[in-house]
Amino acid sequence: MQRFHSYVPAPWTDASLVRLRELGFNAVQLNLAWGSRPDDEPLNLEDLVDPPGGSSLQMAELNCRPGPEARERRRAMIRERLALARSAGLRTVFHFGAPYNRHVHYGDTPPNCILDPALHDRYEGLIRAFAADFPGVDDLLVYTYDQDAWLCGEHGGCPRCNGVPLHERLPPFIDRLRRTWLSLNPSGRLWWKPWELSAGQVHACVDRLQVDGLGLALHANIAECMATVVADSWFVQTCRQAAGRGLPVWVDWFLGGLSEEVEPLARLAHPLTIWRGLVKLSHVPGICGLKEYYGLLPERSGDANLAATALFLREPGLDEATVLARLAQPFGATAAAVAEVWRLTSEMMERHPWDCSWLGREIGRAATDHALSAAILRPMLCPTPSWQSTRGTVFQRTEDTPAHPWQIEDIGLRCGQAAEFGSQALRLLDSAIAQAPCERRGDLTAWRGDLARFVRRTQSYAYHLRATSLAVALRRCLADKRPLPPERLVELQTVLIASRDNHALACREENREMPWLAMEAALAELGRDPSGFLERWLQPGPGDRPRGAFSLTSASNNT
Ligand SMILES: [Zn+2]
Repeated sequence: MQRFHSYVPAPWTDASLVRLRELGFNAVQLNLAWGSRPDDEPLNLEDLVDPPGGSSLQMAELNCRPGPEARERRRAMIRERLALARSAGLRTVFHFGAPYNRHVHYGDTPPNCILDPALHDRYEGLIRAFAADFPGVDDLLVYTYDQDAWLCGEHGGCPRCNGVPLHERLPPFIDRLRRTWLSLNPSGRLWWKPWELSAGQVHACVDRLQVDGLGLALHANIAECMATVVADSWFVQTCRQAAGRGLPVWVDWFLGGLSEEVEPLARLAHPLTIWRGLVKLSHVPGICGLKEYYGLLPERSGDANLAATALFLREPGLDEATVLARLAQPFGATAAAVAEVWRLTSEMMERHPWDCSWLGREIGRAATDHALSAAILRPMLCPTPSWQSTRGTVFQRTEDTPAHPWQIEDIGLRCGQAAEFGSQALRLLDSAIAQAPCERRGDLTAWRGDLARFVRRTQSYAYHLRATSLAVALRRCLADKRPLPPERLVELQTVLIASRDNHALACREENREMPWLAMEAALAELGRDPSGFLERWLQPGPGDRPRGAFSLTSASNNT
């Protein structure tokens, strides 16, 4: 999430685009559109072209790197990519957020309002300027929330929007963009992503949209792009509704080894999870396209997820055993072992509780030395229609409430089960690496490194959650003036020792040194004075030091 930094730069070359075509793709997005602005990639039309002169609208400060040199660099980047994509025979999409309102910076009352006719004029002007300066772009993809776009809240302070439902305000704005693009590019299409809208708002908008030259870009469920939650009820209904109106739909999903869920891990492989998702998506009536959501490295070897996608695009009818056998063929004598590891890692990925909270994403950034305050399940809070309503059908934690002990148990059990699948996979992978053909060992070793990082983190969550449940139960004994059950005290000690060892193992594997002094102190106190331990440790409250936003179970001082 470091600003202007791309942690895995994706090179744009003739060879990478040719490889994309070979894999079965027929279009490419020209910009890496992400709120953290990796490498200062453009995210809004305003980052590339100026709005028409004479507008009375407020121009909010841009979020791109400032200055004319940075702008010229962005413009040159898009021009160069456009030329490469066209010579590779790929269709092109430019992705942007509109209306630009610096993301959530202004809350429910942003300066640029879609009921202001001057705003429609501004975006027509911006699209015209874009088309003139970047001739040959086929399609546009527009987000109306996120991607630094934001909309007035119906209940915010905007006098135009007060009391007017979003589904009455938004379709005319989308339609102005659509008409403008179609007038400039009759064979092009405007794809709209109804991101951050509630399910009800999406359905109401789809009924009101003009469809000629328009398409819907959908996440694979109402809440997020998730490898393991594909084609929920909202998604299936929306595809059917769109098909009934003649609106094409593409679905955004993770098709390779990179994803926001596992960032910054880049080498994980769970090809059966990918295969199963693609089978499910392909059976949803109304889908006409499949789009990578996060980014691919088509030239990199060893991406079993991307290989599964490419195989599906060629031969979608294969059974799972054949898929694994086909993907593992290059591993020669170790093919059967590698296939079994992929089966286990796919189970691991699917068992891990991604549905707990949006802040369970980016698991590669979690700390293995969890806080020694009570484990929490950190909720994701965001003031959009979807977060305040339907997104809760996918994510359990969308409100700032304490997690119930049974919720703590649910997430802990599944983390432990995922870690067990992953640990089995690691053992088998170690022997496979020793016997693999030399040219394959590098890929397997890189995969092993990221797999171990994943396993240590999901295991750390499991230990922290179980230790917290035990502490809660033991405190009940103290409150009721009953003796502490020795077997539960032994279990608590065992879990904490296992967590300490898990962290130490992670440090060795990741070549870092991070002594866990708080855990040593807690274990010493538990051995010396269990009641004192229960008074001091695993109590609700902030941790002994912040663990960052993506350590799901650790309260940190910055939340
Ligand atoms: Zn407004």
